[in-house]
Amino acid sequence: MQSLPSFVYQARPARIVFGPGSLQDLEREVLALGAERALVLSTPGQRKLAEALADRLGSRAAGIFDRAVMHVPIEVAQEAREMARVRRADCAIAIGGGSTIGLGKAIALDSALPILAIPTTYAGSEVTPIYGITEGGTKRTGTDLRVLPKTVLYDPALTLGLPVNLSITSGINAIAHAAEGLYARDANPVIDLMAEAGIRAFAMALPRIRADAADIEARSGALYGAWLCGTVLGNVGMSLHHKLCHTLGGSFDLPHAQTHTAVLPHALAYNAPAAPDAMRRIARALDAADAPRGIYDLAQNNGAAVALRDLGMLESDLDRAADIAIANPYWNPRPIERAALRQLLQAAFDGAPPHVGGYR
Ligand code: NAD
Repeated sequence: MQSLPSFVYQARPARIVFGPGSLQDLEREVLALGAERALVLSTPGQRKLAEALADRLGSRAAGIFDRAVMHVPIEVAQEAREMARVRRADCAIAIGGGSTIGLGKAIALDSALPILAIPTTYAGSEVTPIYGITEGGTKRTGTDLRVLPKTVLYDPALTLGLPVNLSITSGINAIAHAAEGLYARDANPVIDLMAEAGIRAFAMALPRIRADAADIEARSGALYGAWLCGTVLGNVGMSLHHKLCHTLGGSFDLPHAQTHTAVLPHALAYNAPAAPDAMRRIARALDAADAPRGIYDLAQNNGAAVALRDLGMLESDLDRAADIAIANPYWNPRPIERAALRQLLQAAFDGAPPHVGGYR
């Protein structure tokens, strides 16, 4: 029998309701929270979905706040909180991707309003206690159990309209949580199981979604993967890959899921020499010979952009990106070396295949 390392596993409280058509259980789930009136949150683009949800709730709907945007500006969060107060909402329902769920979290942070999350992307925010709020142009992030949604309702039918390209990149965004979870300093065997199963779920589902966006079985597999990978993000620490993506997203305004997709093969190649067991597990879940190359192929074979240059990054900003990323680094299995990091960023910029054996 394999010897087990010492570990700490801290379960996070969450009620997960999963399945095609599970939206029909919405009223039951609102009542199970001990709530009676829900404020529905969405982006402007998902307003129709929010309206359908409010119609379904009837008198239990306290209104719709449809102005969720990326990075949760504090002013928007304050307006949403005020609307919840004026309309006497006793819970909020966040239906959408990480931006809408992030707005729900900002409301919960100082109102203690329970959040019911209905994710429609694979970002995974719904099962993490991590929040981010932008104030005066700076994004402040933190971890607080008050922001963790009390209930998550995963209905794959709601993801049928997620554009194929965003489905692929959002799926690889989720895989990034699981991949970094496998070499986290505070990793544990239970989370490892979820990470590997999450990556496998996406490896199987994404090519099928590319072939047929309305394949409900594949959509279910991907949303199941999103839950598993998001749970990994909520339980163990993230490393170089997430630091790089926060830098690129925050300082250079690159799109979230697409940036994760372009960077992940290279961040894994950088860490591969220091995390052989994690690489073996990632490769096994992908059914690939090599973990970094397996992620690169998953992205490219399914039509995702693999070059930061195609996402709006400027080559002249790569040096500054490397400087920002090495300032206040997250813990990483391999020490952060400026020259190697700069090489990694160049390869991600060019969309080159990840270096076998890591960057030096
Ligand atoms: P997003 O929420 O910004 O959504 C992108 C766009 O897609 C939006 O316009 C949205 O309305 C639309 N959309 C979402 N679902 C759709 C669907 N099914 N059909 C059609 N359109 C749909 O993108 P995201 O990648 O889900 O979230 C990114 C944000 O979430 C980032 O700000 C990131 O920092 C945050 N995030 C936070 C955590 C956390 O734990 N705190 C985890 C992951 C991501």
